[in-house]
Amino acid sequence: MMDGMPSVDSLLGDLDDEQREAVLAPRGPVCVLAGAGTGKTRTITRRIAHLVVGGHVAPGQVLAVTFTARAAGEMRSRLRALGEQAGVPTAAVQAVTFHAAARRQLQYFWPRVVGDTGWQLLDSKFSVVAQAANKAAVKAGTDDVRDLAGEIEWAKASLITPEQYADAVARARRDIPMDAGTVAKVYNNYERLKTHRDGTALLDFDDLLLHTAAAIENDPAVAQEFRDRYRCFVVDEYQDVTPLQQRVLNAWLGQRDDLTVVGDANQTIYSFTGATPKFLLDFSRRFPEATVVRLERDYRSTPEVVSLANRVIAAARGRMAGSKLHLIGQRPPGPKPSFADYPDEVAEAAGVAKKVKELIESGTPASEIAVLYRINAQSEAYEEALTEAGIAFQVRGGEGFFSRQEIRQALIALQRNVDHPHDSLPDLVRILLEPLGLTEEPPAGTKARERWEALAALAALVDDEVAQRPSLDLPTLLGELRQRADSRHPPVVQGVTLASLHAAKGLEWDAVFLVGLADGTMPISHALAHGPDSEAVEEERRLLYVGVTRARVHLTLSWALARAPGGRQSRRPSRFLNGVAPQSSSDAGPARPKRARGAAPRCRVCNGALNSPTAIMLRRCESCPSDIDTELLAELKDWRLRVSQEMKVPAFVVFTDNTLIAIAETLPVDAAALVAIPGIGARKLEQYGPDVLALVKARS
Ligand code: ATP
Ligand code: MG
Repeated sequence: MMDGMPSVDSLLGDLDDEQREAVLAPRGPVCVLAGAGTGKTRTITRRIAHLVVGGHVAPGQVLAVTFTARAAGEMRSRLRALGEQAGVPTAAVQAVTFHAAARRQLQYFWPRVVGDTGWQLLDSKFSVVAQAANKAAVKAGTDDVRDLAGEIEWAKASLITPEQYADAVARARRDIPMDAGTVAKVYNNYERLKTHRDGTALLDFDDLLLHTAAAIENDPAVAQEFRDRYRCFVVDEYQDVTPLQQRVLNAWLGQRDDLTVVGDANQTIYSFTGATPKFLLDFSRRFPEATVVRLERDYRSTPEVVSLANRVIAAARGRMAGSKLHLIGQRPPGPKPSFADYPDEVAEAAGVAKKVKELIESGTPASEIAVLYRINAQSEAYEEALTEAGIAFQVRGGEGFFSRQEIRQALIALQRNVDHPHDSLPDLVRILLEPLGLTEEPPAGTKARERWEALAALAALVDDEVAQRPSLDLPTLLGELRQRADSRHPPVVQGVTLASLHAAKGLEWDAVFLVGLADGTMPISHALAHGPDSEAVEEERRLLYVGVTRARVHLTLSWALARAPGGRQSRRPSRFLNGVAPQSSSDAGPARPKRARGAAPRCRVCNGALNSPTAIMLRRCESCPSDIDTELLAELKDWRLRVSQEMKVPAFVVFTDNTLIAIAETLPVDAAALVAIPGIGARKLEQYGPDVLALVKARS
């Protein structure tokens, strides 16, 4: 390991040609534009080590920045490991978030630029925003205050002043919690309240960046000292930079150009907080002499996963799509990604838990499995199903369902009314949850909507319980809810990860389940409200792309046709799966255990055992002669096309080609004969049985 002599070979040996080009590029601007899993993070850490080994820069003169504490920690640990491996002092490199860097610098420069007035970091802007709203005569509840705080953060990150706010939101077609004039007024009051405290200035996180930039921009001595100290800058996930962070970066650089950036415009998923890939995409315009490297080899995922990722992003539109990169999978082949539809969300969660269990039993460690969803409120069903299956899990980037504030409040409200007389338990629960935010329709505003989603999930859970046990009463229900809450053990590091797609960025697992992929959840309905071709919908597509590219080997995509068991099956799969899910995927249905009963399936022509999924589906060996009614097959295909167009779903969701072939070969005369065909379960029988039987009958 540490032999004292830096080993250049160990820094370059396991890189491909393009990665090596980025690592070896002379000091100066370098831009790595590359898709997920192509080794961007690996490349920049190697570049830093290489610059240090070559004596081009001292480790303490490098400033590597990224956007989240987790990503900064990941970068530090990779640098430390490299240092040990190659004997390079890379552990002395600063790898921090933009905010941490600015905070440290401001602490150092503040007395010189401001003088005696001290400053204090405003960890949470909640109370000041609440005061600002009050001063503007805005009646703001907790969620409104949080949403207002979110708007102020977006505006500041985008370098938008209160005066410019209204125009800017109109231009950005931004979803805002109240009218723009009111938000602008609150924003203005907020800024005044912060600066007008006697003695100390209150600075929020964005102020740290603003003041750092201003100190360097306005004071040549500060600029000089800073620029002597840091000479080389590196930014990971550069597509996430905000205009404010870019301003700080510009101040750091001055006239210099020693900057390496890496990013993937197709992974831009934080536009709503002000992040923009334009600085990444415009990099070579700003630095015409920059070394620009594109990486296309994906080292993370199997070719099967990579191919699906390529298909998901192929349909993207707009500027970021122009930078689309076609990934080429480098790993050995693996299983095909699977698609599964379920009658309802409870069945979906149970089905996923079952598959998770199978993976664990066949050797995949639980910590290498993730279930990813669009919004945190979706975690409940999975916490429940995994608990039931006895599988440990941890909820990342959000608390567990029963730890959410509104759910704790809801349980308290139910407890208080435990003796309340009622006709219908679901109705009573809805009445009690209404004051907490469970309105008829979901409200505007991100925080309010999150709260609503969680309460709606709780109400749905009650509906399900009552549907199964009509005699259920409130005390029993409460007891059971508390038991559920208690049975979910505190976070376990070795468990399956439950996370939102946003929280999964930059991470990787052997097996990934992307769940709830129904239109309205993915893309989410409020994005669809901007129009099917809107930028908001494009951001949702990129989010799905981020999800797909987290998987190394196993990838399962699923959705439910109804929310609650027995509910109307009115949902359809995500529009992003159109043309992405293969037409001949083994039928998109959940596991059909009933069929597993009895002897292995045999060929109806030669009576040999059937092994391949296609053969089982056709109920004959693929090599045995087909007795197919080709005209019927053509009619069935026409019928399927009509139905799929009416329902706006991909054709395979109605029936796969193999199922149609099996129908055209076996000519089922009644419902029993129809369900005997693999790919046709109770739901499809109910939905399409009469149509299909009528078509068959018309031919005989
Ligand atoms: P993301 O866009 O998701 O952040 P990334 O481009 O930063 O991905 P990395 O995390 O650096 O990708 O690399 C993805 C995986 O591929 C890691 O497990 C990394 O160790 C591996 N990898 C990268 N380059 C190579 C290579 N040349 N040979 C073998 N493995 C590699
Ligand atoms: Mg990365």
